[in-house]
Amino acid sequence: MTAGGCTHIIFRHIIWSSHPLAIIRRNWNFMNIQENVPLAQYTTFKIGGNARFFCIVKNGDELKDVIGFAKKNILPYFVLGGGSNILVSDKGFMGMVIKMEIQGKSIDDTMINDQVMISAGAGEMWDDFVEYTVDQGFNGLENLSAIPGTVGAAPVQNIGAYGAEVGQFIYSVHALDTQTMKEIEISGHDCHFGYRNSLFKKEKGRYIVVSVNFLLKKDGKVNTEYKDLKEYFLKKNDQLSIINNQITPAQVREAVINIRWNKLPDWNLWGTAGSFFKNPVISQAHFDEIKVKYPGLPGFPEASNTGGHEDLVKIPLGWVLDNVCKVKGIMRGGVGTYEKQALVIVAKAGATAGEVVAFTQDLMKQVKDATGITIEAEVEWVN
Ligand SMILES: Cc1cc2nc3c(=O)[nH]c(=O)nc-3n(C[C@H](O)[C@H](O)[C@H](O)COP(=O)(O)OP(=O)(O)OC[C@H]3O[C@@H](n4cnc5c(N)ncnc54)[C@H](O)[C@@H]3O)c2cc1C
Repeated sequence: MTAGGCTHIIFRHIIWSSHPLAIIRRNWNFMNIQENVPLAQYTTFKIGGNARFFCIVKNGDELKDVIGFAKKNILPYFVLGGGSNILVSDKGFMGMVIKMEIQGKSIDDTMINDQVMISAGAGEMWDDFVEYTVDQGFNGLENLSAIPGTVGAAPVQNIGAYGAEVGQFIYSVHALDTQTMKEIEISGHDCHFGYRNSLFKKEKGRYIVVSVNFLLKKDGKVNTEYKDLKEYFLKKNDQLSIINNQITPAQVREAVINIRWNKLPDWNLWGTAGSFFKNPVISQAHFDEIKVKYPGLPGFPEASNTGGHEDLVKIPLGWVLDNVCKVKGIMRGGVGTYEKQALVIVAKAGATAGEVVAFTQDLMKQVKDATGITIEAEVEWVN
């Protein structure tokens, strides 16, 4: 039976024979596994080939079943959230794509010191969840408003924006450990959050996030330290409110949404995964050297997450791409940098993953040649 161009099969158990499509069914919990599903529709880049197998999971048991199935059949697997931080190869993914749709929220309001514990399923949409926490009168996540994707992916790269990182608010993560096939609780501390990094990235594929426990506050205090936020409120003549700490989490959320709306492309119109690269962190000595050539280069002190004592500096790569490489707003075929922020790669309808890769590799080379800095992609390559 086919629907939407892809075949739906209710599998019991698959054993590969000499022909890959020869399927033998055995006892297996029923799972609705589809074959040859186009992945572009599930990503914000809107690019990429097919998933050989594709399965939506809505609870922990379904997740265990599909992982067990993939293991038994020696299929690589990939957990897909909202597809907003990935670039899928034009050839697609020759394994099992597991679309995370575990939902649900619960609040534990019995904490002391104005704190509240709130849990959310990995498949909840991140920004709906942020809106929910703000509406409930909880503060903390408002600076992370309007980031696309799911709750389950948020700890994976420790999403961050406007002076906040999600790791600051995570009490613990419930995850399926695919080695032991047991669901475990990992404390925020043990998630080893760093700049766009975490245990889930370091041990890629081992832990699948099922739900996240956030520890939020109810004291209404907000963080408006980030330059763009400060400027936003100053422009609105809210200086007194900033000084007196009278700005509410809902106002910060509104500000962040407005700022983002003016800075970032509408991912319903463009293919994009937001910032394509991480902001590089370099040694103070290297920074001083580049600064001689480019005196306007901004840099911010960065704590070492490897325990080293060397002074480190984080550089806004968008500035380098704009002022050193002069590539802001350029298009090459269907791929380019966004006109308002060069760190954001955009793709027109019809662009291929191959074009994005060629374009971004060229940017990496230009940065290396001009500054000696090796930059890294934030967006994950899926093939
Ligand atoms: C316009 C735009 C703006 C953005 N702005 C920001 C920003 O300000 N800050 C920021 O940090 N990011 C930003 N991003 C990147 C992206 O939104 C985040 O990284 C987001 O958390 C990705 O969520 P997702 O559900 O789409 O994950 P996906 O792209 O589907 O997956 C990303 C990674 O997480 C893994 N993963 C997903 N779900 C799970 C799970 N349940 N368990 C284990 N692993 C899982 C995937 O396997 C993959 O490795 C932006 C993206 C876009 C398109």
